[in-house]
Amino acid sequence: MAKVRTRFAPSPTGYLHIGGLRTALYGYLYAKKHGGDFILRIEDTDTARYVDGSVQIIYDTLRDSGIMYDEGPDVGGNYGPYIQSERKDLYLKYAKELIEKGGAYYCFCDKERIESLKDEDGNLRYDKHCLKLKKEEIEKNLAEGRPYVIRQNIPEHGVGTYHDLVYGDISVDYKDIEDGILIKSDGMPTYNFANVVDDHLMGITHVIRGTEYLSSTPKYNLMYDAFGWERPEYIHLPPIMKDAQHKLSKRNGDASYEDFVKKGFVKESIVNYIALLGWSPKTNTEKMSLKELTENFSLDGINKSPSIFDETKMRWLSGEYIKEMDEQKFKELALPFLKASKVYGKYDEDKLLSLVRTRIQIFSEIPEKLDFLEEFGEYDRALFVNEKQKSSEELAKNVLPKIKERLESITDWTNAELFAALVGLSAELEIKKQAVLWISRIAITGKSATAGGATEIAELLGKEETLKRIDFSIDLLGR
Ligand code: GLU
Repeated sequence: MAKVRTRFAPSPTGYLHIGGLRTALYGYLYAKKHGGDFILRIEDTDTARYVDGSVQIIYDTLRDSGIMYDEGPDVGGNYGPYIQSERKDLYLKYAKELIEKGGAYYCFCDKERIESLKDEDGNLRYDKHCLKLKKEEIEKNLAEGRPYVIRQNIPEHGVGTYHDLVYGDISVDYKDIEDGILIKSDGMPTYNFANVVDDHLMGITHVIRGTEYLSSTPKYNLMYDAFGWERPEYIHLPPIMKDAQHKLSKRNGDASYEDFVKKGFVKESIVNYIALLGWSPKTNTEKMSLKELTENFSLDGINKSPSIFDETKMRWLSGEYIKEMDEQKFKELALPFLKASKVYGKYDEDKLLSLVRTRIQIFSEIPEKLDFLEEFGEYDRALFVNEKQKSSEELAKNVLPKIKERLESITDWTNAELFAALVGLSAELEIKKQAVLWISRIAITGKSATAGGATEIAELLGKEETLKRIDFSIDLLGR
């Protein structure tokens, strides 16, 4: 069997959206699983949709996410150039060959004539008018330099059938396909032509792309057949939905890989999650590295039905990666987000980070999890009331001065010492330890829910600040 070669063929029309990245990922996984090559090709023949800077975004995103290609515009390879606009002359040459072979023809119809073919709804169906032109007429037109396009010659009858490796046998009636343009009047090919020429010339064995191309594939097959080229295998991928009705799309401004990285999702979790959008492993584990995904990937795990993008699940996965990350990497990734917090520079960095480590799913939660440390002031004394923790306002009023006294005597201001001191105090006073801890927490934070326990927070705040806050709370309860 020939070496597997897959390709990712994005159009540079903005950022790389999640659906695009999933297509790239599956192309990568399929190639790597079979010891093959994964190729990047930039499809920039639609100049109207070209967005400056987007080619660079494609390179950066693929590199950054680890979906690295073996051949491509910026890495080279034996089948280049890998940017379609640099292959322009080649397409014209092949289009002429296709004309010779009866698969295409010159069309000289002007705008007015084309307009006149539109029905009431504005839909156009070309009537094969120029297919009937005599050879001499065509030559004369060309010699006179009349503008032309090259159209595909679709048979008027018959059915195009092929086998998709996900969707099975697909058949399209030729009468439902029009003689689409292959070469535009500016000499540029359309996607419909360029994808065929390039996939053939680049030796692509498996074409992996979205289902929007499922029904146009028969017309590409007509070209493969007319050229006498072997058709590739086709793997069409189910759409990714935002919800039951709407597709996830960059046109709607839906988030991209880059956005999610900026929001603080662990990169590996994004790749891991998008692998699961349309594919399920046979194992029960969903958390998989790129290497594990490669080992487990198989076509029979690809679903036919659309999958819904679930950000909550991706968040969860990101949290799992954070929990398992080594200390050094966590610090490196968390630091830029910690810097955005009000508390940055005011407390011990490592302690702040260990406070949030198991409490966040994405890095951008860091500031909101820590800002409470800086937000101490007037609060509602009813917070001391907590039945579950066996705490009441009355109890707080009695115990808080004793807590203060005990803490004042501590010299080794660490979480462990503080905890031992408060537990000791609760035993002496014969009250529940959770009550003492609850009262301490409210007294030093003024909040019922925070990251970290009372003594953990006290350690961070330091002795002076902790005692100052307790004084404030004693005063508040005494009013
Ligand atoms: N340039 C096409 C797109 O971005 C590629 C489709 C394909 O993979 O053949 O949709």
